[in-house]
Amino acid sequence: VPDKHAKPEWLRMKLPSGAKYQEVMEIVKSRQLSTVCAESKCPNISECWGRGTATLMLMGSVCTRACKFCSVSTGNPQGWLDHDEPAKVAEAVALMGLKYVVLTSVDRDDLADGGAAHYAACVRAIHERMPDTAVEALTPDFQGRHDLVAQVLDAGLATYAQNLETVERLTHPVRDARAGYAQTLAILKFAKGHAPQTITKTSLMLGLGESDEEIERALNDIRAANVDVVTMGQYMRPTKNHLPVQHYVTPDEFQKYREYALGLGFVEAVAGPFVRSSYRAERVLEGNNLG
Ligand code: SF4
Ligand code: SF4
Repeated sequence: VPDKHAKPEWLRMKLPSGAKYQEVMEIVKSRQLSTVCAESKCPNISECWGRGTATLMLMGSVCTRACKFCSVSTGNPQGWLDHDEPAKVAEAVALMGLKYVVLTSVDRDDLADGGAAHYAACVRAIHERMPDTAVEALTPDFQGRHDLVAQVLDAGLATYAQNLETVERLTHPVRDARAGYAQTLAILKFAKGHAPQTITKTSLMLGLGESDEEIERALNDIRAANVDVVTMGQYMRPTKNHLPVQHYVTPDEFQKYREYALGLGFVEAVAGPFVRSSYRAERVLEGNNLG
């Protein structure tokens, strides 16, 4: 299994650098802001922060789910929410000077609305403080409840994302038992119908043992759900307790999947070893002609 071997050379990371990155990092450290970019040691951090993009995590660091690819702690926050979070998030966006911010969160099955109202409040707080900043929400599945997805969309999103994560056959064991392949596709389709001007997006991790045919089928299913943008990146095992990497996908293979996706009519397809759901998100917006 490739996990036993050294990572291929295309997965060697460069150290973060750049004037804008340094400047934003100073602010993040001095104000103790929490970003997914820094905390996950994301390899794209210089590039994203240099362009004025970052990902912020909402609703704490304890998730009610336990996906087999994810290192976030599992537990029951018992309804806890930081009611100052909308103001704090808006402040962070202003301090970091973000032009495009991605909001994401743990799953909060302990909250009656899954945290939808809180998400919407954070989006609105950013719009009030930073009217020119575009907001993307990469949300939990809200147990498939479309009314909750609508609440988040109605706060005004440039992009709505929910991740399919993997091909249909591998959905279980990869995702938590409460998540579902068809459920995520249905939410994405609903989102596009509810807010046609919002870009919809989903992401697949590759290297979990999926075949080319399965990837192609997933891409067709995603397109059939009217999703505008698909991203594909390498699955990296967070710890030995998580699913092993079955395959390191080569840059050429990523390119092949990207071309296949573009042939299906996606507005954009981003694929590569370090691609994360939030990577190059604002570029898609710059080039979009969805009105
Ligand atoms: Fe942050 Fe996402 Fe960019 Fe990584 S890809 S640095 S998590 S915005
Ligand atoms: Fe991680 Fe999201 Fe799964 Fe929670 S729902 S374990 S945060 S991937």
